[in-house]
Amino acid sequence: MALAEEVRRIVEDAAHAQSGEKVTGVVLEIGELASVEVEALSFCLDLALHGGVAEGAALEIETVPGEGICPGCGARVPLHTRLDPCVRCASYGVRPVAGTSMRVKAVEIA
Ligand SMILES: [Zn+2]
Repeated sequence: MALAEEVRRIVEDAAHAQSGEKVTGVVLEIGELASVEVEALSFCLDLALHGGVAEGAALEIETVPGEGICPGCGARVPLHTRLDPCVRCASYGVRPVAGTSMRVKAVEIA
């Protein structure tokens, strides 16, 4: 829920900055390794945006693939969970370097 409140704050700041009356769409980028449950976030966002400038805005979610650097072979490899071993050499402890966060990518304002 804290995440949804954070999104609401960013979206409303964007609307104020452009003197927008109504937010029609929000694009979120969510990393595969960000530990964000998309369905739960959508549900919380519906509640968080209710009654604000972004009520009823279309929500678009883009997933960013996870990637990490392997401590064994040094390769940059795809990573679907933080606990996955390296797909090349099977070493554990791959350090996540991409797809670890969530951000508001775009806000469409009318
Ligand atoms: Zn490796």
